[in-house]
Amino acid sequence: MADCPHLSRTQNAAGEIIPAAASSRLALTWLKEGKVHIAGSHLEDPKTGEFNLSFIRKEFPDKDFSMITFAHWEEGLVVAPGNPKNIRKIEDRVLEKMLEAEALQKQVQDAAARLEGEKGRVDTEKNRLESVRRAADEDRAQLLARRRVLAEGLSEPVRETYERVRAGRHGVAVAEVRDGFCGGCHVRLRPQMYNDVRANASILTCESCSRILYYVEPAPEDADAAGGQGNRAAAPN
Ligand SMILES: [Zn+2]
Repeated sequence: MADCPHLSRTQNAAGEIIPAAASSRLALTWLKEGKVHIAGSHLEDPKTGEFNLSFIRKEFPDKDFSMITFAHWEEGLVVAPGNPKNIRKIEDRVLEKMLEAEALQKQVQDAAARLEGEKGRVDTEKNRLESVRRAADEDRAQLLARRRVLAEGLSEPVRETYERVRAGRHGVAVAEVRDGFCGGCHVRLRPQMYNDVRANASILTCESCSRILYYVEPAPEDADAAGGQGNRAAAPN
């Protein structure tokens, strides 16, 4: 026994006390086995909340025993000096955490609702763009058919010129002439060229960008808005 590190000796006039460190249950077992004379115990019955008695009655069912209460334990919390957060009970902390959890839950729900709304908006926009695309596809098919018909009506040299310019000008082979300027490259035509283009008698190309030029006589109201320049012949008498 003297070699055991859990044991120390206390001696006074009344006799010698040899304490042995052990858990409550082990202490009661030792007491039952006669290894010690006194056992310290702080066992709580979780069903009744009663301390020690039910355990002792179970361990010593047919024996007389004396139970002496010499101390009460009080559970506490370790807090910062001055208890700055004014924590009184563990329940306060639990409540704080629950409130935090509730707020977070609310945020998650709000975000989920926003996401749903956003999904609906994206779906609507997707459907709209899909119908725009379908309409554009139909337009394109009609225009290609029309283009084939028109191409068949062109002479071989004109079609050859058209294809060559189109290839060299990013797909745009023709340009409207307005107020003496080429609508493709915005360079002013020579006066004679401008007159020839306005006559619309032959296929002419821009001397600057090579695009095939065409001229559309402005409608009478356009001509009036522009001051009626050079449009007398088209105006009704
Ligand atoms: Zn040009």
